[in-house]
Amino acid sequence: MLSIVTPAYNEEQMIHKTAQTISSLMEAENIEYEVIFVNDGSKDKTWEKICEEGESNTKIRGVCFSRNFGKESAMFAGMAEAKGDCVVIIDCDLQHPPKKIVEMYRLWEQGYEIVEGVKASRGKESGMHAFAAKCFYSLISNATNIDMSHASDFKLLDRKAVNVLLNMPEKNAFFRALSSWVGFKSIQIEYDVQEREAGESKWSTKSLIKYAITNITSFTSAPMQLVTILGVVMFVVTALFAVISLVQKFLGQSLDGFTTVIILQCFTGSVIMISLGIIGYYIAKIYDEIKGRPRYIISERKN
Ligand code: UDP
Ligand code: MG
Repeated sequence: MLSIVTPAYNEEQMIHKTAQTISSLMEAENIEYEVIFVNDGSKDKTWEKICEEGESNTKIRGVCFSRNFGKESAMFAGMAEAKGDCVVIIDCDLQHPPKKIVEMYRLWEQGYEIVEGVKASRGKESGMHAFAAKCFYSLISNATNIDMSHASDFKLLDRKAVNVLLNMPEKNAFFRALSSWVGFKSIQIEYDVQEREAGESKWSTKSLIKYAITNITSFTSAPMQLVTILGVVMFVVTALFAVISLVQKFLGQSLDGFTTVIILQCFTGSVIMISLGIIGYYIAKIYDEIKGRPRYIISERKN
């Protein structure tokens, strides 16, 4: 059986359409399936809509979070609920073309264990956003040694891979990178990002920055090495200034060094503060992980 997991956050306008599209597609292709909607603490009527769909079609199941835990948590919850031999993760806004599910499923039947959907194009994005995304992906690609610039969460995973992911103890999992990191026999298929049909993107600039920092730090400690590099740079600059002020002293013109002192002091101060900030961030992450809180809390289930 194929399980289709779709995280939904404030998607009341999309639930019916998505459920309809997926179920009629699966029935036309004669694929045994279940759809699992994960309501990620939506503030609108998303959960009611999911329950309505569940009433008319028992293959449609729902999980409701007690509050918003984020898309990563929603995807993991969906995978934990899935009973199928393979799981497809797809966005609820139909930006990932559902037709590709069939293509992914056929590849799985041929023996592939992970089928990754890669974006042929990134759809419509503003200049600034495209630039930020490029920076983020080049960092993450370096950290994971996998080209992630066109990666997305639209994937099919075999039961084996799903179990590996579910058994990982880390809470700050970055699904897109982790699912490549686990290995297995994989293949990529391209798809075009569609326009959103209704509702709006759930990502604000702030949440995207937060998402980027969390995922970079959970995959690499390179920012911490930045501290060492800054320290070395600082040392070289200091040595230079030391030589200059010594020369000035011997030439008898050492009084007007005030500017240098101020600049140096500010510079040292800022480098130390940045460094402490980076170290503090990692300590906070260690703290988060050892608290061992659950990734998500389920308040209700349907079917
Ligand atoms: N989503 C979620 N929890 C969140 C934010 C988003 O479950 O906190 C879901 C959302 O309902 C959608 C998918 O994640 O199905 C992708 O979100 P969106 O379309 O807003 O992102 P974009 O396509 O703009 O990257
Ligand atoms: Mg979207």
